[in-house]
Parts: sequence; C-alpha cells; structure tokens
Amino acid sequence: MRVLVVEDEKKTASFVRKALQAEGFAVDVCHNGNDALAAASGTPFDGIVLDIMLPGRDGLSVLRQLRESKNATPVLLLSARGEVNERVEGLNAGADDYLPKPFALVELVARVRALGRRGGEPKSPTLRVSDFTLDTITRQAQRGGVTIELTAREYRLLEYLMRSPGRICGRMAILEKVWDYDFDPGTNLVDVYIKRLREKIDADFEPKLLHTVRGVGYVIKESP
Ligand code: CA
Repeated sequence: MRVLVVEDEKKTASFVRKALQAEGFAVDVCHNGNDALAAASGTPFDGIVLDIMLPGRDGLSVLRQLRESKNATPVLLLSARGEVNERVEGLNAGADDYLPKPFALVELVARVRALGRRGGEPKSPTLRVSDFTLDTITRQAQRGGVTIELTAREYRLLEYLMRSPGRICGRMAILEKVWDYDFDPGTNLVDVYIKRLREKIDADFEPKLLHTVRGVGYVIKESP
C-alpha cells in the first residue's frame, strides 16, 4: 500500500513516515499543499494522510482540489484543533476519516490501514508492462510465463518503476523511494540494481523494458 503523508512539521512527518514504513507501507512525504497536489496527480496512492494546517494552500483546499479533479484517493485528515466545525467541513469536502492531534501512532496506522480497505476505485493487484507482470500481493514476478526470483530490494525498485510505466524516474527519487535515502550516497547503487534487473527481466526476452535516460535516470516501458 502506497501512502502520501502531507505535513509541514518535519518532525511529525518523519515520525508518521517511520511508523507507516515499519508496518510495510510505502510512504511519500510532502511538506506543503501544492507539492501534495502535484504528487497525488502524478502517482496513484492508496491513501493520503493530510494535515489541515499547512503553509499556503491548506489541507482542506488540497482535498477540495483533489475531489474536483475526480481524484477519489481515500483521505485521512489531521488537525491540531479537532474542532467539530473543521471536522464537518473536512468530511463535507470529501475526507474519508478524521484524526485530531495529538494522536497515538498506533491509532494513525490503524486508521490508514482501514483507509486502504475502504479503497477508492478497485485496483488490480497486478502491475503489467508488455508481457512482464508483477503481483503486488504475492510479490511474484513473471515474464512470458516464466517466474522470476527477486530480492526484496529488487522487488521494491521494480514496483516503484512499474507504478508509473513510461515515467522517467530520477536516480535521486529512486534512492529516496526504494532505499529511503534523503541524500545522495554518491554510489552507483541504483545502476548496479538496474543492471541486475536487466539480467533477470530483459536479457532473455524481447522487447527490452528497462531503459536508461542518460544523465537522468530510468524508465520502464515497452518501446525505447
Ligand atoms: Ca501542520
């Protein structure tokens, strides 16, 4: 399950991210409303944890904008005040749930999990590019009917790329999303893993799916 956390207080955002990651969620974090809208329109999330009090565009405005653009991703609103008015306003604007601050992390995790069960549109658990498939429940990879063994990290990298086929994924974004680095370790880690994945999913098959975009990163797609 992939979750977007929108919270400007970096410490809170970091606690929430770690708590969700510890429970197996893939987590993206944004610190303001405009970044949140950009992220939500570019990536299909299974849930959004959205703080109301944000600098600039606030959480309620983000929520309204999402719903206006027909984005039905389930949203859990967070608020420092927990006022009835704000809660009603949030639910009217299309929030799925509401949690007043301060909250216990275990409660937040439970609510996010419930959010995922509620779901927006039913999504296929299988990601597909050409004849390559990745089952996000069993974590099984297959190409041309052949099962491909992946390590946990290889799976995570492939899932990240396959969540947005055709989109160029930068090395730094990959390090952040797949390795949870928020700095460039200055190694060729990503390139090494891509090379391994090529040997597994592309070497014995046509067409090639993993493509290098020089100086930028990688993209998974059927045509070069
Ligand atoms: Ca805040």
